[in-house]
Amino acid sequence: QALSAPVAQSDGDLRSPICCILGHVDVGKTLLLDKIRQTNVQAGEAGGITQQIGATFFPAEVIEQKTASFSSRDRINVKVPGLLIIDTPGHESFTNLRSRGSSLCNIAVLVVDIMHGLEPQTLESLQLLREQKTSFIVALNKIDRMYGWRAQPNGAFCSSFQAQPAATQSEFATRVADIITQFAEQGLNAELYYENRDKRKVVSLVPVSAVTGEGIPDLLSLLVGLAQKHMAKRLTYQSMPECTVLEVKVTEGAGTTADVVLTNGMLYQGDRIVLCGLDGAIATTVRALWTPQPMRELRVKSEYVHHKSIKAAMGIRISAPNLQKVVPGSRVLVVGPGDSEEAMMEEAMRDIASLHNMVKKE
Ligand code: GDP
Repeated sequence: QALSAPVAQSDGDLRSPICCILGHVDVGKTLLLDKIRQTNVQAGEAGGITQQIGATFFPAEVIEQKTASFSSRDRINVKVPGLLIIDTPGHESFTNLRSRGSSLCNIAVLVVDIMHGLEPQTLESLQLLREQKTSFIVALNKIDRMYGWRAQPNGAFCSSFQAQPAATQSEFATRVADIITQFAEQGLNAELYYENRDKRKVVSLVPVSAVTGEGIPDLLSLLVGLAQKHMAKRLTYQSMPECTVLEVKVTEGAGTTADVVLTNGMLYQGDRIVLCGLDGAIATTVRALWTPQPMRELRVKSEYVHHKSIKAAMGIRISAPNLQKVVPGSRVLVVGPGDSEEAMMEEAMRDIASLHNMVKKE
């Protein structure tokens, strides 16, 4: 469904938080996003491209709709324009997605299979989250696989839980206690989110099912609530644009285009931009700006919406001449009035060494 574009903001307003999804293979990261988006990337809609990076924007209206199953007392008041979810299948992508030296992600969801607990890549993800000092919550996925689970599709977790047989409730309690112990072994305090009184220090566990949609209202409201409450400073909208390249690819009828994440500020059609290229800095002019429809993913071929200007945070496809050699992971510098394009070209090339490493590793 087409939703109206968020209205323009001014300095001091909040921008949309950027959320990354991490976890061991097969814990259900892709299916979880599909369920929230109501798409089918997991079953191949994306044409086998699930190993790349995608960005999906969830407008505030959608988050409000999807959290409506909460009682009015628990419902959150969404103050951000939306939530931009980036799914990063590899650790490389997560560590390299940086904006001005810090992680591009404001908040992360670490997905854990409730039937398996912490797995090797979960531990690696934990390590990365710590190194980058990224706040995160844990989605305990696949609750529907517990014996005797009676699904209450798309419901808030607590009401689903009350509808479960006693044996299922007790299996849940045992599994959660085990997982809490496993987190403790990693030096982390974790609690079920609705029992967690100190959400800044203690990791919140949110039971969910990507198959039945249970717990998704909880997950979304917790994400947005935490971001609004504790990250207001980082989420302050500023007019100075900040932008990072995810991927460079050929788009039918538009030549080589760049998929980028605008993490702050506005980007306009006609902007002069400077990028880091394999053979030196590239200065070019934005010919067109596209986004997928809201709730669609940047990398999935779909109908793109054309924009004259776009506000952060958003995943954007940029059409401009000479993008062929742009280095993924590098910053997009926007030339403002009074800026020296030459100085910016030098600046754009400064992090080339670390980016070269990334290209080699991938
Ligand atoms: P990813 O590797 O983390 O992206 O995992 P996928 O989303 O590809 O899911 C891996 C497998 O687990 C698939 O067969 C999914 O259908 C299944 N799966 C994912 N989430 C759930 C869930 O909540 N419940 C059940 N029963 N199966 C799930």
